[in-house]
Amino acid sequence: MSTLITGISELLTNDPAIGEGVGRIKSAALLIENGVVAWTGPAATAPPADSVIDVGGRAVFPGFVDSHSHLVFGGDRVDEFVARMAGQTYAAGGIKSTVAATREASDDDLRVRTAKLVAEMLRQGTTTVEIKSGYGLTVQDEARSLRIAAEFTSETTYLGAHVVPAGLAADEYVGLVTGDMLKACAPHAKWIDVFCERGAFDADQARAVLTAGKAVGLGLRIHANQLGPGPGVRLGCELGAAAVDHVTYIDDEDISALAQTGTVATLLPGVEFSTKHPYPDARRLLDAGVVVALASDCNPGSCFTSSLAFCITLAVREMGLTPDQAIWAATAGGARALRRTDVGHLGVGAQANFVVLDAPAAAYLAYRPGVPLVRDVWSAGRQRIGPGSSLG
Ligand SMILES: [Zn+2]
Repeated sequence: MSTLITGISELLTNDPAIGEGVGRIKSAALLIENGVVAWTGPAATAPPADSVIDVGGRAVFPGFVDSHSHLVFGGDRVDEFVARMAGQTYAAGGIKSTVAATREASDDDLRVRTAKLVAEMLRQGTTTVEIKSGYGLTVQDEARSLRIAAEFTSETTYLGAHVVPAGLAADEYVGLVTGDMLKACAPHAKWIDVFCERGAFDADQARAVLTAGKAVGLGLRIHANQLGPGPGVRLGCELGAAAVDHVTYIDDEDISALAQTGTVATLLPGVEFSTKHPYPDARRLLDAGVVVALASDCNPGSCFTSSLAFCITLAVREMGLTPDQAIWAATAGGARALRRTDVGHLGVGAQANFVVLDAPAAAYLAYRPGVPLVRDVWSAGRQRIGPGSSLG
């Protein structure tokens, strides 16, 4: 069974074989077979197919790959946000109220809430999402968060080292995170992550966490240099992390470590927006040849957006990326940050995950900020959102 999507005003493939950057094809068509991309090119030269769908002169681009989110949690922190907007500064300690609410929530409550956020993401064009634990902070609660996350994605990340829970010394807690908690969580996780920041975990503790995860086969990621300069970026690069995330306060040494190792720098501009911190210097990273990803960091404390279109808007308006660079970072960049070659692009053989935008050009994502332009979303060759979709 093959389906030809035609009438595409511009198709962004992110396929280097087609062109630099986003691999743009004008007046394009895309052929899907068995859930994967079988062909892309000018509509005039499209091969025959069992069925044909004409999208009427709209832009099509790969489904977003959101490589950083925290979706399994109880409660919310709207009061904290309101206070912050009234002038209070943000510190990492607010996490503790979410930890209490998450521990209190039932499995079903957490499952329903996570499902709602994943569905919200899909409606906005996100077809691949990474989900972290990190609001349980006990052996049972971290393992439970990861079991629930794994119901929604294969990209699950064990973040027991999110913050030191009340009543424990930091080194004592790191012993738990690298011992019994790791044992309980590793079967449900693909990645391990640590919040390396003043007020969270220092370089030695972060190294202990990542090294223990690596020893049991988990891939490495790190929250680093969000609130101030620090050792996190260089530590992530040294240990072979797939991505270092935030990267807001960095120096030349950090940038050359990223460029030399190929570790992805994941920028989370929704956080800077929601905490009134300065944005990371994305241009400096790109000019140095660093691979940049954009992700939501969707979480109840520092940034509660699930919209990668919003993050693209911020990257373009506040961080100097071109729309093409920002869209690439939220698709192919996210895939690199998860070391995935089957998503984030529409080259032949890729999963047929794509968005039909109700606009003639993908740049409308930033040109029309805040407007819900995503019309159709396809995942693995099935239409999930839009007219005629299985979910409606
Ligand atoms: Zn985060």
